[in-house]
Amino acid sequence: MQKSEALFARAQKTIPGGVNSPVRAFKAVGGTPRFIEKADGPYIWDADGKQYIDYIQSWGPMVLGHNNDAIREAVIKAAHSGLSFGAPTEAEVYMAEKVSAMVPSMEMVRMVNSGTEATMSAIRLARGYTNRNKIVKFEGCYHGHADSLLVKAGSGALTLGVPSSPGVPADVAHHTLTVEFNNLDSVREVFEQHGDDIACIITEPVAGNMNCIPPVEGFLQGLRAICDEYGSVLIFDEVMTGFRVSRGGAQERYNVMPDLTCLGKVIGGGMPVGAFGGRREIITHISPTGPVYQAGTLSGNPVAMAAGLAALEQLQAEDMYPSIFANTQALLDGMAEKAKKHGVPLSTNIAGSMFGIFFTEVEHVTNYQQAINCNGEQFKKFYHAMLDEGVYLAPASYEAGFMSKMHDESIVARTLEAADKAFARL
Ligand code: PMP
Repeated sequence: MQKSEALFARAQKTIPGGVNSPVRAFKAVGGTPRFIEKADGPYIWDADGKQYIDYIQSWGPMVLGHNNDAIREAVIKAAHSGLSFGAPTEAEVYMAEKVSAMVPSMEMVRMVNSGTEATMSAIRLARGYTNRNKIVKFEGCYHGHADSLLVKAGSGALTLGVPSSPGVPADVAHHTLTVEFNNLDSVREVFEQHGDDIACIITEPVAGNMNCIPPVEGFLQGLRAICDEYGSVLIFDEVMTGFRVSRGGAQERYNVMPDLTCLGKVIGGGMPVGAFGGRREIITHISPTGPVYQAGTLSGNPVAMAAGLAALEQLQAEDMYPSIFANTQALLDGMAEKAKKHGVPLSTNIAGSMFGIFFTEVEHVTNYQQAINCNGEQFKKFYHAMLDEGVYLAPASYEAGFMSKMHDESIVARTLEAADKAFARL
């Protein structure tokens, strides 16, 4: 770890906390973040040359595994023609056609550069379209770091939101109403009180930022019905679930159509890309066809589009998803078995190639409170034991894990051998 330690010490002198996104600093688990030198397939290597099986997968984008040949070649080819033009290109047209063909509810698409931009823009559009101010979000869901989304519930379920970060004005936070994931009653209550001023509900259809929590039966359908009743826009933040929990995202997996969808991660094949889109009638309200302003100097960047298109084209293969899902299930079944063998209470959740393990006696974790009540000390010990064994899990218990096409049976078996040793150490 010598090189990672030295780099971390050096980084902290000129980068806040030594990292460009806070979770990378290992604050939740302690110890030195590994500085990564290269990645290939299911593996990453740190600056000291140690190899790890990677279950972060760049926080989701790498559903095909790291350093995918076709994506890399597409990027190199595109770069030969220039890096950015600030003018429309054919690649953007292909991308929009591809996305609207693959994601059932997306009739039209606007490209942006991150998931944060996608959700921020979708919310502005929902507000502009409905001419309403308030938005509803769920406790434990993360939608990037725009002001109106860095908000937590005030005291009592019906009070207006309060900022969850300094720098977010209380006046902005007031317009965000935070309710409980997988609890339709809590949604109905805020709509009964504020329904005529609620522009939208935004949700992760599978929560992936409070570990991994799939929707309970009827939850997403219920949100659709409430939005229809009150004339509010239903936004699925599929930044994490898009092209991951099925080819057409969670909306296809659970067969519920949102009005607007936000995408990120997989759509860029590892490059900084996001997108939002949905029903033609709504999305045409953005500039230049409509009055709701939205723009981006590097949006639809040709090199980024080439990477994303190369990823999406491979994901259209018939046999792509079933094997990833089967290996994810095998990983979780194995984890549960190893934990049981060593007498460690463990609960697991799965949605396609997203997974979560919870150190808890609760059989089936369905909400934020249950997720944060898990045994954090056990997670930390398990985390470092796995790292020692060459398995790189997310360095925080509230993050989902990700499988890729390259995590085959042998990788799963090696991970379970590591888990056997790690559970034994708890
Ligand atoms: N939405 C969801 C569901 C996410 O998981 C994330 C990032 N983890 C975002 C939005 C924000 O995306 P970005 O980090 O690209 O801004």
